[in-house]
Amino acid sequence: MERAFRASYGRRFHSQNLLAMGLALLLFCFFGVLDWLLYPQLVQQLWAIRYVFAFLPLLAILLLLSGRYYWRYGQQLMALALLLGNLAVAAMTVVIPAEMNDVYVAGLMLIALYGYTVARLRFVWAAASNWMGLLAYNLANLWWGDASRWDLIAGNFFCVSTNIMGMVASYTMEYDSRRGFLLQQQLRRERQRLGVLNRELQDANQRLKKQALTDELTGLANRRQFFARLQEEWRRARRRREYLALVMIDVDYFKVINDRFGHQSGDQCLKQLAQVLQEHGRRAGEMVARLGGEEFALLLPGCGAERACKIAEDLREDVARLDISLPHSPGRVAVHPTVSCGVASLVPDEYHAPEYLLFLADQALYDAKDAGRNRVACSSQPVVEKEELA
Ligand code: GH3
Ligand code: MG
Ligand code: MG
Repeated sequence: MERAFRASYGRRFHSQNLLAMGLALLLFCFFGVLDWLLYPQLVQQLWAIRYVFAFLPLLAILLLLSGRYYWRYGQQLMALALLLGNLAVAAMTVVIPAEMNDVYVAGLMLIALYGYTVARLRFVWAAASNWMGLLAYNLANLWWGDASRWDLIAGNFFCVSTNIMGMVASYTMEYDSRRGFLLQQQLRRERQRLGVLNRELQDANQRLKKQALTDELTGLANRRQFFARLQEEWRRARRRREYLALVMIDVDYFKVINDRFGHQSGDQCLKQLAQVLQEHGRRAGEMVARLGGEEFALLLPGCGAERACKIAEDLREDVARLDISLPHSPGRVAVHPTVSCGVASLVPDEYHAPEYLLFLADQALYDAKDAGRNRVACSSQPVVEKEELA
């Protein structure tokens, strides 16, 4: 987590770090004018410290930072730059006359302020550099400088105060950055979780929709889907003035199969029958559905009575050829179920509802049953020829 935070901190402040350091370097150079104005006789030493000892290495650090080193050693390099600035100003306080020390102590404060805030260094690095800089100022002045004890004490009052305030500012800023980072992480995790939940919800929804429209035992369209499609195809056929055919299919003596071999065997039988029926309604717009129990329907858009009867006859023959072995029944017997079909085909008009087609097909189915089962009966309803409609 800490590593991730540091990486994100680096990404967030990359340009600010570089801009701030570039600006600080410019200002640092610009202060050379003050060296020259205040101490023309010392300007060589001061400029040597400012430009040779400090500026050149600082420039090198800036160049390193603008490359890939930023991502690995950014904080360390920036802290080093801060320390160099501090050391340079501390050295200058030794070179200049003691009574003018406070002018350059202001420089130390300025650098501290920069390090704690504008530079966007992390708290530990900013504090370490600035306190080391202050230590260097004290040691240099104690060993080599001629500043009085009181000047040093006064300088320390200001510098220590600046450091304390700077630390508070830096700590607060870093605390906020860390909080922001944590919240961002939490938000991302929540989003991911929500994404997963959303996908699961969509899948469940899809499954439910499918379940609501499919017959569980056979996998065929169920009653609900069938009636929706019947309405749809009815309207389409009416608009286009095309035939719409319906074949009602009922298994013969299914009760006997059920009673003799058990309900489970009956189910097995229905499943295999459904597979055969499915083969006969594969064209676009066609639909095979289980209306309930052992009753099925085949919807055939654009199909006249003759072709519909032919399809029903093929279907009946295919079923009659079936040889279903029933694993659930004792002794593994085979059954040969048959179906009766009732066929109706018409061109829908505005005087009838889709249920009319259903009624005609149902009547034909009764006829087929009456005539002895295992046969196809076509509705005796007079068929309107397409040409007559034009
Ligand atoms: P018919 O030739 O006149 O159609 O005779 P039938 O025995 O097929 O007709 P009937 O309507 O008397 O019987 C239908 C049977 O279908 C009754 C019921 O036990 C059975 N059945 C209905 N739904 C299911 C089901 O989901 N699974 C099984 N195994 N049997 C079912
Ligand atoms: Mg029935
Ligand atoms: Mg039946």
